[in-house]
Formats: sequence, C-alpha cells, structure tokens
Amino acid sequence: MAIARTTRPITADDDAIRAALEDAFLPALLPALAQATGDFSLLRDDLRPAGVAPGVEQGGMSPSAQAEARVLAFDAIRRIRDDAANLCPAPVEEALRQNTAWMTGSEASEEYIPLLLEELAPEGQDPRAPAWRKDPSVSFSVAIIGSGMSGILAAIRLEQAGVPFVILEKNADVGGTWLENTYPGARVDVSNAFYSYSFAQKVDWPKHFSTQDVLLNYFRDCADEYGIRESIRFNTEVTSIDFDEESANWTLHVRTPDGAEDTVTAQAVISAVGQLNRPKLPDIAGMQSFEGPSFHSARWNHDVDLKGKRVAVIGTGASAAQFIPVIANDVAELMIFQRTPNWFAPVPHYQDDVPAGLTWLFTHVPHYMHWYRFWLFWNTTDGLLRAAKVDPEWPDRSLAVSAENDMLRMLFTGYIQSQFADRPDLLDKVLPKYPPASKRIILDNGIWARTLKRDNVELLTDRIEEITPGGVRTEDGVEHRADVIIYGTGFQASKFLTPMKVHGRGGIELHQQWNGDARAYMGITVPNFPNFFMLYGPNTNIVVNGSIIYFSECEVQYILGCIRLLLEQGKRAMDCRQGVHDEYNARIDKGNLECVWGVSSVNSWYKNETGRVAQNWPFNLIDYWKQTREPDPADYQFT
Ligand code: NAP
Repeated sequence: MAIARTTRPITADDDAIRAALEDAFLPALLPALAQATGDFSLLRDDLRPAGVAPGVEQGGMSPSAQAEARVLAFDAIRRIRDDAANLCPAPVEEALRQNTAWMTGSEASEEYIPLLLEELAPEGQDPRAPAWRKDPSVSFSVAIIGSGMSGILAAIRLEQAGVPFVILEKNADVGGTWLENTYPGARVDVSNAFYSYSFAQKVDWPKHFSTQDVLLNYFRDCADEYGIRESIRFNTEVTSIDFDEESANWTLHVRTPDGAEDTVTAQAVISAVGQLNRPKLPDIAGMQSFEGPSFHSARWNHDVDLKGKRVAVIGTGASAAQFIPVIANDVAELMIFQRTPNWFAPVPHYQDDVPAGLTWLFTHVPHYMHWYRFWLFWNTTDGLLRAAKVDPEWPDRSLAVSAENDMLRMLFTGYIQSQFADRPDLLDKVLPKYPPASKRIILDNGIWARTLKRDNVELLTDRIEEITPGGVRTEDGVEHRADVIIYGTGFQASKFLTPMKVHGRGGIELHQQWNGDARAYMGITVPNFPNFFMLYGPNTNIVVNGSIIYFSECEVQYILGCIRLLLEQGKRAMDCRQGVHDEYNARIDKGNLECVWGVSSVNSWYKNETGRVAQNWPFNLIDYWKQTREPDPADYQFT
C-alpha cells in the first residue's frame, strides 16, 4: 500500500469542512493555511498559542480564541476550495519565519532555519536526498546489515545516490524492532508525525501513537515505494565481518536461509542492527526449573493462551507498561514484580484514534502535517532537555537535579497521586524515589492505575529470590504460584552489535577494542575500522527529546557524505583518527555527566557495565544535526 501523503483537492461542502474543524489542532492549522493562501493576517496576535503543558489543549488557546480561529480557518479552506487560482501561496522561507514566530512567540533563531527548511520541505520535496550521484564507472558497493527503520533509510539514500548496495537481513521481512516486538499493546511513544521519515510524511495515521502493526506496515510501504526490497537478502544473518587492508574490502560472512555459509564483499559496511533487539533475561536462580511456559516480551509466544491463567510478569519498563494492561483483561491472576517504579507523564490522548476531522484536514490542507510536525518538534524536543540538565548548585540530587527537574517531579508526582488517591497502599509502591528522566518516562492516559487497581492484579515489590518449578519466590519467603512467566526485562542495549564479530585493521575485533565500553565518533565511526559505519551506535539514543528517526536521518546524511568523500577523492578507505574520537567522547561523557541520567544512581539501560552512559546523546537535537551535516576530512586518515 502506498503511503498516503498527497494533499487531495478539496471537494467537501461547507458543513463537512465545519465538522472537520471541530477536530482541528488549531496552533498548526492557521500557519498551514497562512502558507497555503499567502495570507498571514490569519496569524492574529490575540490567537497566538501559549505553548505546551501536560493537560493543556490546543496550545493553551482560550475557547473564544479557538472559536475565532475556526472561523478564520473555515474561510481560508473555502478560499482554497473555491478560489485556488487567485491564491498566492507563501514561499517556504517566509512561511518559516512568520509561522514559527507566531507559533513559538519568537522567530526561530538563525541556527534552526536550515534545519527547519529540511524538516518543513513542501510536499513532494526531499532536501535531504543526496545532491550527487556516484560515477557509474567507479566500482564501489555497500553492505547494509539490517532492514529495520535505519537500514531502510540508508538504502533509500544510497539508491538515490546511485551507490549499489545489498541489505543482509536475519529476519524474513523488513521492520526490525517493529517486526520482532509483537507483544500485546506494543506501540510507539513518540507521536507519529515526528516518528516517521521527514520525506515520507503519512497523513492518515490511525492513531497519534501508532500500534506495532501500523508501524510495521509503514516501514514495509517505505521499502516497497522506494524499491529497495529487491536488494534485501532475507533470512540471512551476518555472523562476522573482516576488513582486508590490502584491498580495503570488507568481507561479510553470512548464514544463508538454508543454513549454509556464504560471503559478501563490499567496500563499505553500514551496521543498522539497532540497540534494543537482543532480549535480556535476568539472572535469577532457578529460572530453568520453572515448569510452565515462560518467554521474553520481545519473543512473545502467541501459542500460549493466557486466558484464565495465573501469570507472573517480571519487569515494569516501557514494554511491560504496554502489555500488562492488555493481558490483565484476560488472565485469571496477574502478579507484577516491580523493582523500580516508573515516572509517568500524563498524555490523555496516548491511545486515542486520530479523529476523522483531523485526518481529513491533514489529508486536504497543504502543509498541515508539516506544521503539526513542527509543533511537536519544537515543543517536545530541545525545550524538554532543560529539565534533564543538572544544576551544579542544586543541593540534593536524590529526587531532583535542578529547579526545572524538580518542577517535572512535582508535576508527575501530582499526576500519580491523583491516579492513586483512593489506593494509598499502591501509591507508596508506585511513586518513584529518583529524579525524573533518569530512566525512560512512560506516557500514560490513566491505564496504569486502572490496571493496578483491578481485582485480579497484584503489584509486588519484594525482591525476587528465586524462580521455582511452580512460580516465583520473593525474599519474604512467599511462593507466588504462576502458570506462565513473562519477562519484560529489557534488552542488552550496551552490547552493541553482538553477537556479530567485526575484525578491523590488523585483525583487531571491535568488542575487544571496546572492552565492554562501546564508543564511536559521532556514534558512527570507530578508529581501526575503516569504511565501517554504525546507525543508532553508541551515544545516539535520546531520552526526553525527540525521535530516533531524526537521529538516523542525521547519521545517514553523514555516512553518505563519507562515501562521497571517498569517491570524489579517489580514496579506498577512511579511518577515524584516534585523537578526534577520544576528544569527541570526552565531550560526550562530560555532557552526560551534566544530565540527570549521568548522575542518578538509579539503574537504567543507559549505562554499560563500566558505569559509563554509553547510550545517550546529552545535547540538543540541533547539535547532532549540525555536526553530521558533512564529514570533516581532517577527522580521518585516508588510504
Ligand atoms: P527496560 O526499560 O530495560 O525495563 C526492564 C524492566 O525489567 C525494568 O522494570 C527492570 O527493573 C526490570 N528488571 C530487569 N532485570 C530484573 C531483575 N533481575 N529482577 C527484577 N526486575 C528486573 O526494558 P523495556 O521495557 O523493554 O524497554 C527498553 C527500551 O525500549 C525503552 O526504554 C524504550 O527506549 C524502548 N521501548 C519503547 C517503547 C515505546 O516506544 N513505547 C516500548 C517498549 C520499549 P529496573 O528498572 O529496576 O532495572
């Protein structure tokens, strides 16, 4: 199925337009209409949105401002419908300045303009597409490992640059994490207007935060639409890869669908294997002795019927918080073993459908989806990072690390208290005692409290001592009888690229070089591994601010720049200079130690076994965009 994104001609009658406007998100609609009509008088000062805050609708526009905005919008949509020939749409740059000024209260600062010009490119334009093509007479090919979100993206860009590539995919289909995580209730927790490729904006997402099946289909559609499926070798797992200094070629050893071994040769390798796809089972005594079925959330066993069963769930992270409310409806008894409670952020529409009127407007009003994306980008990304920054003067870091972080804590505390006001016994267990944003914040529309309050659900916080043949024994000596155990215990995130072996210059193996502490330059390149590029590598994860797709787009831009350098300079290999890499990592480490996840003692998958934050990007989104615009040849040694 093609991705729905073309603005369709407006044929709806007045009543239908008025009805659709009831569902409009107005702070983004007026700017879209101003651009489409060239009429910036729509952006009246008295209608200006105030910004975002939990529970605040329509960017804080008052009911009377909303009513007036609807009248203006109605008139503008009718003009587009009835008088298109006489409209004078605004140039993108003018719309960018006027609209951002109105939406944010100040003009976007100069440094954001080029980024926003990419993010807000008009329908059908793709400013991030490579503006160059490989000379067909030069022999150069790339092997991409993985066809999840970032592998598909890399393939699309290589295709656009005319660089031959093959994708080696261990699964039978594209989609990566969205193919593998089929647990009930799996969905994205970043709004889809932002969690989607900038160049493939889909205007008919059925929900604000899509479920796994919808996302999987989106990535399948992208693979089909951009014609990359034919270049994928499915059911083909890369086991090891070797760099040959003599030829500057990489040899990838693969296990083919029939179990045989084969090799693929390429001049560059892009690893797109993800961070969150190797399930982590806990190390609890007696796990093997359990007599019933047990499985990890990312390997959901759909053959196990949970209806009427006593089910134990270990872990309460982002995955468990999604499947627990769903299975609670079916099981006879649900025992939730929680080690650390989550901070929950109130998002009332988290599980809601996108209303029909809003979808109609996205589908018919030019630029609307882009301005909606901008609204999310602006208000939910770089602005949020401030609340995660450590104030060195802040006296006690046990519950908060700055005044802004403490505000967040009080806001979330008030929300959790309101949710559990009638259950003080639960409130004590669910209220976190660590600063917010040290771990992933979970979005909630009230479903967590409703679930925990069910008669068939019990929240257990005693430490697990062992798994027995019949259930789970906690340290108080009680054995909790269970028919099924589900592990929602997360992923081996810091063991980047395992179990693959990667041999670089002089045969050195990547994991040996890392010695349990994965690092990279820009999260992309590693000294001694020429022409080897990582997507979603070390320190490219975001915690509070943004979408990982944005990061992948930046990384792919940089990698394509590297390949272009190699081709244009007639070089065979580029190897990151050690000093450049080390200086970069020192900056990253310093940045992470200035963030709440760097100083908080609560356990999280952001830290590796050495205690270093190996996962997270500690700066603004724009900083990563700026540093990945193009590679600096001085950072590399060329051969
Ligand atoms: P996770 O956040 O690492 O959560 C693992 C859970 O298992 C935690 O509650 C952890 O407790 C618990 N646990 C681990 N070992 C344990 C043990 N030995 N005994 C008792 N409890 C144990 O993993 P996840 O929920 O799969 O999520 C990982 C990441 O994937 C998320 O942070 C997010 O980035 C991504 N994700 C996103 C979505 C989404 O977009 N909606 C959904 C799922 C996942 P502690 O907290 O005490 O360690």
